[in-house]
Amino acid sequence: MTGEQRMRTVAEHLATALALVAPVPSVTVPLAEALGGWLTRDVVSGDDLPRWDNSAMDGYAVHAADTVNARLRPVRLSVIADLPAGSAEVPVVGPGTAARIMTGAPVPPGADAIVPVEATDGGTSSVLIAAAAATGAHIRHVGEDLHAGDLVVPAHTRLGARQLAAIASVGVPTVEVRRRPVVAVLSTGSELVPAGAVLGRGQIPDSNSLLLASAVSAAGCLVRRVGGVADDTAALVRLLEALDGVVDLVVTSGGVSMGAYEVVREALAALPTMAFVEVAMQPGKPQGLGTLSGGTPILCLPGNPVSAFVSFEVFVRPVIDRLAGRPDGQASVIRATVDDEWRSPPGRTQYMPVVLTGGEQDLRARRAVPGGSASHLVAGLARADGLVIVPSDVERVRAGDQLDILRTP
Ligand code: AMP
Ligand code: MG
Repeated sequence: MTGEQRMRTVAEHLATALALVAPVPSVTVPLAEALGGWLTRDVVSGDDLPRWDNSAMDGYAVHAADTVNARLRPVRLSVIADLPAGSAEVPVVGPGTAARIMTGAPVPPGADAIVPVEATDGGTSSVLIAAAAATGAHIRHVGEDLHAGDLVVPAHTRLGARQLAAIASVGVPTVEVRRRPVVAVLSTGSELVPAGAVLGRGQIPDSNSLLLASAVSAAGCLVRRVGGVADDTAALVRLLEALDGVVDLVVTSGGVSMGAYEVVREALAALPTMAFVEVAMQPGKPQGLGTLSGGTPILCLPGNPVSAFVSFEVFVRPVIDRLAGRPDGQASVIRATVDDEWRSPPGRTQYMPVVLTGGEQDLRARRAVPGGSASHLVAGLARADGLVIVPSDVERVRAGDQLDILRTP
């Protein structure tokens, strides 16, 4: 038996990771605080929308019959009321009269058409109408948007600007959304310094904590970014204790492989609730997961930046989706034709960062960096549109092959 055969498959590791979390509870929030939240219940309208027939134009509410010949022979009507939007007045418009009306104001009883102000002399005590208005002209009708009892926004929708506007319009002040999961992100490595700091020999900028914090935040979570942590086991243990029970999920990078100074492994491997394993994937082979003593789930990703990114997309994103109570988030996978060729390690699923060109019908993929999926090629990630998923039984990808692409935002 080789080590390769004892590796977990990606699917097995993902299933173990998903089993660590359950959806966070929902909370009721005012609409102004609900942007980006995931709705947990249908929002149903208690009202018709529009609530009443109203004017679609600034103009005059009239009897259509009074205007039949107005294009050839302009007709003068007496103006019996002035109805700006918001007016609560209810004048009765009889034959030979008109009410000046602004867009959105309720159509007064008696009137059955609106004449736009452009077709009149704009008078305020009487008005000269120079166009015929058909019955119903420029009237927005009650219920034409939706009716009382209709669904406004279904459960499991992520609330954006348009959904919030629709909910506000039906007069609903609050919504029930999933509380935003709180995710702590930390990267380990004594070589790491904050991005932009002067680098001593052997030091590199910490890019993973930014990558992970940004990806977690873009996935709709609140981030507690701890930043870089030195390879000091006692210090890491203290840090994790401080996060345990406080956040919904901890994501670490680095310190999980087989070498020395593997700080995450050293800090956690003794816990019976933790597992450090090899997953049959490339990059991203060393992975850790489990729960801290206080029950907080933790995913421990490898430190190489491409490995960390691939691990985020393959494991962390689905876990976050489940935490956030999203309906079974199917990964966004599309087919593309490969315009390139490279090797893939036998027995491991390869995730190759690629640049995509062409339209949806004829999507083409090339490696984002000629060096391929080597796990340290972080700059190439900036160009990548997605990850080609090379199945574990494929050892050579050839031009013309059709493969699945995991789209990465
Ligand atoms: P490790 O998994 O800790 O053995 O790290 C593997 C490689 O990834 C090493 O070359 C690290 O310097 C690099 N690395 C680890 N963490 C980070 C990070 N936060 N930012 C950039 N590179 C990192
Ligand atoms: Mg390290």
